[in-house]
Amino acid sequence: MRRSTLRTTPASRNGRRTLRSLADLAQAGLVPPGRLAALERVAAEYAVAITPAVAELIDPADPADPIARQFVPAAAEGDVRPRESADPIGDDAHSPVEGIVHRYPDRVLLKLVHVCAVYCRFCFRRAMVGPGKRRALPPAAMAAALDYIRAHPEIWEVILTGGDPLVLSPRRLREVVRGLAAVDHVKVIRTHTRIPVVDPARITAEMVRALKAGGKASYVVLHANHPRELTAEARAACARFVDAGIPMLSQSVLLRGVNDDAETLGALMRAFVECRIKPYYLHHGDLAPGTAHLRTTIAEGQELMRRLRGRYSGLCQPSYVLDIPGGYGKVPIGPGYLAERAGCYEITDHCGLRHAYCDEVAFAPAAPPAETSNDIKGLRSSGERPGP
Ligand code: SF4
Repeated sequence: MRRSTLRTTPASRNGRRTLRSLADLAQAGLVPPGRLAALERVAAEYAVAITPAVAELIDPADPADPIARQFVPAAAEGDVRPRESADPIGDDAHSPVEGIVHRYPDRVLLKLVHVCAVYCRFCFRRAMVGPGKRRALPPAAMAAALDYIRAHPEIWEVILTGGDPLVLSPRRLREVVRGLAAVDHVKVIRTHTRIPVVDPARITAEMVRALKAGGKASYVVLHANHPRELTAEARAACARFVDAGIPMLSQSVLLRGVNDDAETLGALMRAFVECRIKPYYLHHGDLAPGTAHLRTTIAEGQELMRRLRGRYSGLCQPSYVLDIPGGYGKVPIGPGYLAERAGCYEITDHCGLRHAYCDEVAFAPAAPPAETSNDIKGLRSSGERPGP
């Protein structure tokens, strides 16, 4: 990668620069000097970067600050569990050529870079991203990746990811987008990024134009995990995409101590919707090394999703998903509302009340129990609370 194509940090912001070492964090008051020695091994293994925009959001006096928890290294990262893996969702098993992950028939990931403006402590690619980890896609590899996409007419959508593709210069992004748009069967180019939140000044008119180059449908998916991340500047950066006709979606990771309560999660989803960003995915934490302290249980995630439904607008409902370890893809793991019982469906509403839904189209006429025969259009509330 030529030097001028990549700038991973804002030059400065109010005279402040990205924090990249434990010494930087100590100087900024984000790590007490007494904890530095305990963090050395973790910081040597997994990259550290906190942009000025993120550092400004952290309250150094709060030991449980939900922003710090996402970015400041913790000694608990040294606790690597047996089932955790450097490639928890199996990218490498589905990589036919460098830079491409082809897991589902109609779409591929195109991993342009392996660096980011910030490094998230829970990142599922944490063993692959950061300075000195995997290389950015050099020109020859980019050409081979494009050849692969051209040779597979079933590829309808290309997802630009990494690392964070928006660390690239607008000029380089424009080249990439134009190259993809020239492939007739590629109809959608989707970019996954954290930049509008962690370095909003990078979202310039030139960057927005770069993502639209080529005239194909362009989507941007924003990764944010706490409502405080949606600052006025971040909202303005997102508005630049949306106003230019680039629809936005969100993705968040369910994280213990960050967004694992219904109020915070609901406020996050509302903040997205207020920014005209449709909540898309709430990811269950992946089995990335040293991240057990940040994962919730799936049962906790399902309970949170139950609490969101009914209390928050339908626009605020993401899909709670798990990437099956090993590369078998993403599946929804939200709470179930439908069960088959006694020849009918039993449906649980958002208050936990159960209702029968008996429909002769789905069930043989003899099947519905006699007591449901007076239902209007087959729907009847039992008013029964869930059992133990
Ligand atoms: S920005 Fe994305 S790729 Fe980079 S460390 Fe965070 S989660 Fe990982």
